[in-house]
Amino acid sequence: MDERNFYSERQDTKELKLVCPHCKQENSYPIRWMVRTKKASLPRGAGDEDRKRFANARSYMVRVDEMVACRNIRCRKRFELTGQSVVLVSDAPIPQGDFDPDTFGNR
Ligand SMILES: [Zn+2]
Repeated sequence: MDERNFYSERQDTKELKLVCPHCKQENSYPIRWMVRTKKASLPRGAGDEDRKRFANARSYMVRVDEMVACRNIRCRKRFELTGQSVVLVSDAPIPQGDFDPDTFGNR
């Protein structure tokens, strides 16, 4: 069974404080993540092996964005994100951010 069946997927945006390597200015950036939340129960058709894997499965999130454009209007350079790109999350519900796919990246 595909591991994806263990999770429900959704996209989330989190504000992250980043320092631009070009102009050294700190700003907060909306960074997109794909959140894979472990389902409450095992999907239908799961075998013993799947049951074991499901028991060990943890909710996690994967960073979608790899580059951001500097928000300093005198700089505007793009730079790469550093740090962890995969983060384990607790199984408690994650509060929804003010994610708006229509305006993201258009500033
Ligand atoms: Zn900059």
